[in-house]
Amino acid sequence: MLGSMMNSQLTITSIMKHGKRINPNKEVVSITSDHEEHRCTLNDIFERSGKVANLLKTHNIEKGDRIATLAWNDFRHMELYYGISCSGAVCHTINPKLHPDQVSFIANDATDKLIFLDVMFIDLIKTIEAELTSVKQFIVLTSDASVVDGLGDNWSIYEDDISAYSNEYDWPELDENDPSQLCYTSGTTGNPKGVQYTHRSLVLHTMAAIAPDAFSISKNDCILPIVPMFHVNSWGIPYMAAMVGCKLVFAGQKVAEPETLSRLMQNEGVTLSVGVPTVWNLLAQYIQKNNISLTTLKRLVVGGTAMPAHLYRYFQDEQDMTILHIWGMTEMSPLGTLNHIHAKEVQDLDDEAFFEQKLKQGIPIYGVELKLINDDGQEVAWDGKESGNLLVRGPWVVDQYFNRPDVKNVDGWFDTGDISTIDQYGYMKITDRSKDVIKSGGEWISSVDIENAMMSHPDIFHAAVIGIEHPKWDERPLLIIENHSGDSLSYEEVVTFLTGKIAKWWMPNAVEYVEEIPMTATGKMHKLKLREKFEQYSF
Ligand code: ADP
Repeated sequence: MLGSMMNSQLTITSIMKHGKRINPNKEVVSITSDHEEHRCTLNDIFERSGKVANLLKTHNIEKGDRIATLAWNDFRHMELYYGISCSGAVCHTINPKLHPDQVSFIANDATDKLIFLDVMFIDLIKTIEAELTSVKQFIVLTSDASVVDGLGDNWSIYEDDISAYSNEYDWPELDENDPSQLCYTSGTTGNPKGVQYTHRSLVLHTMAAIAPDAFSISKNDCILPIVPMFHVNSWGIPYMAAMVGCKLVFAGQKVAEPETLSRLMQNEGVTLSVGVPTVWNLLAQYIQKNNISLTTLKRLVVGGTAMPAHLYRYFQDEQDMTILHIWGMTEMSPLGTLNHIHAKEVQDLDDEAFFEQKLKQGIPIYGVELKLINDDGQEVAWDGKESGNLLVRGPWVVDQYFNRPDVKNVDGWFDTGDISTIDQYGYMKITDRSKDVIKSGGEWISSVDIENAMMSHPDIFHAAVIGIEHPKWDERPLLIIENHSGDSLSYEEVVTFLTGKIAKWWMPNAVEYVEEIPMTATGKMHKLKLREKFEQYSF
């Protein structure tokens, strides 16, 4: 016999309806291509989502159809999130920083019916337009009609298109397991793979993420999401903000400009912001140079790659902020672990050991289970020493990639491709990606640990370690440092700096300097490209 409680469906529509009734008047500030500063309310966004849904109906969009966006963070992108998903279609966010061939692959794989795009991505789409056979209409997110002059009948202007429609829309009753959003991984190995989130997975992820021991978001917050809405739904912020009813600030295409960010943070009273370490590094340099204190910003959510120690200390000690270090991935919606609130036994560690704990990727959030296994499939002890392949499961972890029945989870667990340790307190620490790990004399060397140790040097922000074939040890580490000034550390200085910070036998055999370490479209060091560049290297 089943229990006897109501079976209300957990849908994005329920977040929108709640937001409309309970939190309609919170402000949303945006920079867009046609507005230096646009102000509206959460309610305006939900109202205009009705217009979006009516527009989709005119294009004969059916339940489950994929509708693509190539857009920066702003109010229009948020209208599309709600208008598309709540009408029963799937909002497919495409990363415009990917190579055009990948954008074309992704749009065709998803058979997108419409593409909503920002003005600055018109040229990108024009180069692949002929290949996008499933797309019936390209709708440019602006009010400036001139931008589509001469582009053809299948190009139109968002504000013109939606102005014809009413806000009223009879939102359908959806099943919580219906698809709502689609996001492809960046595809650093092979073609990108699509992760199709359900209404249920996103609602549960949102509820878990706003909790006090997680992001601790309330209606008194003001959030500036730096993570793009084309990358794992901006880590879920557009849903969290609507669920609690807090103010939102979107920096649009200016999201990588520290001057704009710090101005918005101060003027709008931003209390929480989410982004990758690269952005925090740019911001730290700018505010340090200009002697700025960010007085309202109290919490930084950092993830995507590990937070370098010196940057952690700067924001914690100089700017009096709390760092919420998170780990996750596209396949996990993205939240997996979080390092923020510490149990008493961890706080009681000495200062250095406590700080080491803080730099780890953290403990799993409720809903996510972790498992560590070795190459023989045996579970590895949670002792903080032995590393293993990290597997995860939970209601917002991918079960099956879109269109890829050939790639399957094993025994209900998803293999993250990350190598990690978990200590006795439950804190997970990423030590490598399985494809990046260096095997020396049959033992694993953590490229990530060497990189983090090197990047704790105040003059070095990007340092990568890759394995190079070695006649005796199979592989040995090569350290590659990004060097802008030409004033580089010698190999001896590097060895002195790393001594005591990493195991002796992990010491890189050599150091090479490059002008720029290549980055992926999601802001991670592109090790594949580095390995190609140094393919012929020998010690
Ligand atoms: P991609 O776009 O690269 O496919 P994801 O954003 O899904 O991207 O990347 C997920 C991966 O990023 C994780 O598997 C892990 O290797 C890395 N990652 C995420 N957060 C952290 C973190 N806090 N520290 C170290 N690595 C991280």
